[in-house]
Amino acid sequence: CGVFGVFGHPEAASMSYYGLHALQHRGEESAGICVADGRDFNYHRGMGLVKEVFDKDKIASLIGNMSIGHVRYSTSGDSRLTNAQPLVFKYRDGDLAIATNGNIVNEPLIRKQLEQGGSIFQTTSDTEVLAHLIARSQKDFVEATKDALKQLVGGFAFLLMTNDKLIVASDTHGLRPLVMGRVGEAYVFASESCALEVIGAQFVRDIEPGELLVLDQNGFKEDRFAEPQRKALCAMEYIYFARPDSDLNGSNLHSARKRMGSRMALEAFVDADIVTGVPDSSISAAIGFAEQTGIPYELGLIKNKYTGRTFIQPSQELREQGVKMKLSAVRRVVEGQRVVMIDDSIVRGTTSRRIVNLLREAGATEVHVRITSPPFKNPCFYGIDTPDRRELIASYKTIAEMCEEINADSLAFLSPEGLIQSIGGYNSGDYKGGLCLSCFDNDYPTQVDFGGEEKDGC
Ligand code: 5GP
Ligand code: SF4
Ligand code: MG
Repeated sequence: CGVFGVFGHPEAASMSYYGLHALQHRGEESAGICVADGRDFNYHRGMGLVKEVFDKDKIASLIGNMSIGHVRYSTSGDSRLTNAQPLVFKYRDGDLAIATNGNIVNEPLIRKQLEQGGSIFQTTSDTEVLAHLIARSQKDFVEATKDALKQLVGGFAFLLMTNDKLIVASDTHGLRPLVMGRVGEAYVFASESCALEVIGAQFVRDIEPGELLVLDQNGFKEDRFAEPQRKALCAMEYIYFARPDSDLNGSNLHSARKRMGSRMALEAFVDADIVTGVPDSSISAAIGFAEQTGIPYELGLIKNKYTGRTFIQPSQELREQGVKMKLSAVRRVVEGQRVVMIDDSIVRGTTSRRIVNLLREAGATEVHVRITSPPFKNPCFYGIDTPDRRELIASYKTIAEMCEEINADSLAFLSPEGLIQSIGGYNSGDYKGGLCLSCFDNDYPTQVDFGGEEKDGC
């Protein structure tokens, strides 16, 4: 999911519209904006893309100078309007709105305890437990929020808003990205820096693990709800999820992906006539591979812009259809050629097999697949939609078996060290370069097993 917040700007709603539009790749299922004018909340949420959910009149009706917004993709396939965010609640004498990117891993346990204590839940969104924890506290809003956040285990970036306060918080490992910017006197917060750029805001800094920022009539206050723990920003953000024009933790995404591609060429060189990347996420890495090897980069695959991201559509059936609609091989480019095809990850293996076959049908004589991440063997508990372990092809097949399954002439994956170095983390001296690599190495920064059924993360 993607979140976007504004504090102190009369055009908070239209800024949110553009900001969320820039974050659209983080979720295409629903979108919502909630504004506060100092007294009341005004909000609108709907299923679909930002440009479908909002029009000029809707935005004009959202008057206020503080706002939080959200674009959503569900991590459990439960796609419905009641789970569209920001979630809005009655709170004391006013209102409370919450927008989240991430997943609360111990949510089932907390929910059970709350239900036993008499709480009634309205959504299947895991974010709702945060609202209940805050509401049950006797303390003021900021202290209540800190207490509530301390009880959560997981990876999350939260924007919370009452009628007169905005709170911004990140989990103690900084698993999900969240950045701060300024435009004039106003403050802006976004999942990625590309959303700052689009509204002309200046990037200020990343939000730190365990940090909690409070913005209200007294100004801007830096605080925290817990001590920072092992920094573990999601590596999949660099590999696949975030936009190439965003910077995370000081690294530009396009440049990091290019380095992954050139590192890949050093780790698993193969001679070929052309290099092609699977659009959009692997173009940067393919350019890096081509630069390193001198094999020309070519546009061997074209993406139809008018289909959504395949992974984001909930069911397998839809996903399969999506891939067909989405990519085509360029026959004149690949015919008679030995092709290196760069992709960012293999999850189930369906996408790679289809693309290899597309290239072969278009006349490629050899197809060598290079994946700019290590084998994806373990599920994510922190808000990236991954299937059960048993559907992760790398968890039950060797690389040779996967190569056969996807019908490639050769297959290689980037090493974890190569990945960390490409992203640029080694210099910082942090454990694993300050990254979460759990889906590759099973070394989760938090406890992940709390029993119970998992609810909808984001
Ligand atoms: P699969 O191997 O499951 O058929 O597809 C993997 C492809 O899905 C990759 O090329 C990657 O670009 C794309 N993808 C889309 N969303 C995600 C995601 O959330 N996680 C992962 N690992 N890959 C994703
Ligand atoms: Fe990202 Fe993988 Fe960690 Fe999930 S497990 S937060 S996808 S690196
Ligand atoms: Mg892809």
